[in-house]
Amino acid sequence: MFVYNTMSRKKEGIRALKDKRLGFYACGPTVYFYAHIGNMRTYVTEDLLRRALAHEGYVVRHVMNITDVGHNVGDGDVGEDKVRAEARREHRGISEMIDFYTGKFLEEEALLGIQRPDVMCRASEHIGAMISLIEKLDGKGYLYRTSSGMYFDTSKFKDYGRLLGSSFEKMSKELKAGARVERPAGLRNITDFAVWRFAEPNEKELVWDTGYGRGFPGWHIECSAMSMEYLGETIDIHAGGTDHIPIHHTNEIAQSEAATGKRFVRYWVHGAFMTIGDRKMSKSLRNVYTVEDLVKRGYLPLSFRYMCLTVHYRNMMNFTFDGLEHAQRSLKSLYAFISRISAIEGVGHVDQELIDKAEALRKEFFECIGDDLGTPTALSKMHGLMNLVRGVKLNGSESRRILDIMLDLDSVLGLEFNMHLSSALQKEAKELIGKREDARRRKDFRTSDEIRSRLRDEFRITLEDTEEGTVWYTSTD
Ligand SMILES: [Zn+2]
Repeated sequence: MFVYNTMSRKKEGIRALKDKRLGFYACGPTVYFYAHIGNMRTYVTEDLLRRALAHEGYVVRHVMNITDVGHNVGDGDVGEDKVRAEARREHRGISEMIDFYTGKFLEEEALLGIQRPDVMCRASEHIGAMISLIEKLDGKGYLYRTSSGMYFDTSKFKDYGRLLGSSFEKMSKELKAGARVERPAGLRNITDFAVWRFAEPNEKELVWDTGYGRGFPGWHIECSAMSMEYLGETIDIHAGGTDHIPIHHTNEIAQSEAATGKRFVRYWVHGAFMTIGDRKMSKSLRNVYTVEDLVKRGYLPLSFRYMCLTVHYRNMMNFTFDGLEHAQRSLKSLYAFISRISAIEGVGHVDQELIDKAEALRKEFFECIGDDLGTPTALSKMHGLMNLVRGVKLNGSESRRILDIMLDLDSVLGLEFNMHLSSALQKEAKELIGKREDARRRKDFRTSDEIRSRLRDEFRITLEDTEEGTVWYTSTD
């Protein structure tokens, strides 16, 4: 399995240091608002990587943080905590709001077929680990105090900016020349960042009394402290969006490696941005969509997952509703294909040549996935497999072999083919679908429509006729 490592700027073969175990840390959401589909694309990519590694026999321990404190409204350690500010704006209790958006996030992840991380850790529950790390850094002389908090002196960390292919000097120069971002008073270097911020006297929630004073953590420190707590001082894979490279991940590396003297991450994996109709996603353009918005417009959430798979994760993805429509059509024809071949019963003589060709496509599919998650080419292999058997009258023995391959591919794609197996249908519903097929063949559209309504009302099953045949799925409404 090869992935593009942002640090080395090349594809590298993934190897575990011990057994076949890999520690995998992914930066999670800041739970002050809904996650939009651009965010969700990154989580789909991470899920795909995790599934691909599991398919290669790795035992992956997936850790994701939930940022419920420490992420500020301003870019440069100024401004209010995002969670606290939003709670006030919405007139809600902080913990109620955190629970609400965390719950929403997990629901949307589940709709997209994203497997739950093994560990989901909340920043607010790991203040002790963060303080220990801060003390370590302080003891080694990396920190200094200003009126607003404890800051990391980036000039003291030798390799600062390496993830960007930059350096402390270069980054300082660029930041000074660029647009002015408001920074706190008393900073020694423009690239320095807070590990602990002092609370205003009126702040009552999400603040802690510590040896460094009453306050709350900087954003970056949580990921260093929690990844070390659950995965050790050197973690195998760290993933996130490309927007995290210049600041968040650069600062995670600085504080982690300064504290331990060890390499923090072996493979850095970053997913690219998403635009909406070629424009940047922004609230003012009213083009920020959530998975729930797509569902409300009548789309299957997994159509969005399928759409993500059609673009390589390191390429910019442009979201359009036309594109989503197209993805949904492809997905439905896949489902119809799965339903159809899984309904074939009995045994028969196996056409070995056909099965050999199908097996070759399975192998090619996984070679594409193993080459830095090449999902667009992998999908074309899967469609090649469907084309291979198009028009072929498969017997039960053959269809089971083909189905076995399709389910294997789906263990990485995560499109939930298993929900569309003929065996997933209740017997009665299955019979009704069969009767409707007969009615359609007889061109008895009245009966066909009646059965369709019955399936919807009694079994919550929606039917749709596609090129591959009739697709059914359980209604989401
Ligand atoms: Zn992080």
